[in-house]
Amino acid sequence: MSYQHQYIDGTRIHFPVGKVVCVGRNYAAHAKELNNPVPTEPLLFIKPSSCVVSPEGGFSIPHDRGAVHYEIEIAVLIGKPLSRQPSEEETLDAISGFAPALDLTLRDVQERLKEKSWPWEVAKSFDGACVLAPFVAGSTINDTADIDVRLTINGEVRQDSNSREMLYPVLPLIQHIAGQFALQPGDVVLTGTPAGVGPLQEGDELVMELPGHTTFSTFVLKRN
Ligand code: ZN
Repeated sequence: MSYQHQYIDGTRIHFPVGKVVCVGRNYAAHAKELNNPVPTEPLLFIKPSSCVVSPEGGFSIPHDRGAVHYEIEIAVLIGKPLSRQPSEEETLDAISGFAPALDLTLRDVQERLKEKSWPWEVAKSFDGACVLAPFVAGSTINDTADIDVRLTINGEVRQDSNSREMLYPVLPLIQHIAGQFALQPGDVVLTGTPAGVGPLQEGDELVMELPGHTTFSTFVLKRN
């Protein structure tokens, strides 16, 4: 099954699906819940395009690699090339859409990697590790420093926050990333997860939301 970026009205987006640039510990309350220090610069990592899936019709999680944690995040679709410290204006102009996404994480595997001071790819980049809902057009969100984000599982709100709680807000974060390496049309930035992460189970029903903008219902597929 191949994934292609699309808007919520079903319009397909004619950018290739690129890399997914993620930021760890971008909400102080989440850093604290995992006993991590609050970073002094953005903690970046990358998921490859091969891990991106749509939540439509449910999604699968690995079943034999320990706990799989959900992390709801505000995803930003890049629509124009950005590199070398773009201005705030250029950065805003390059944003093509926003969506709720899940940064799925093999938490037990990640703990082991962290103990060894090894990179996180094995815990973060498995097939299906980025569950990406359809995008709302970037122009529909006026203030990137005031975007609500919420995850409800089996009727219970588990994560509920707003981009104003970010340590590195959306625009400065993307400017910083583009100062490190180029962002291309079709790349996605996951802007970090708020507090409330936890394990997923087969059959869980999820509602991924940017309240006021988009709501997407999905579930964790059961193994045959
Ligand atoms: Zn994350």
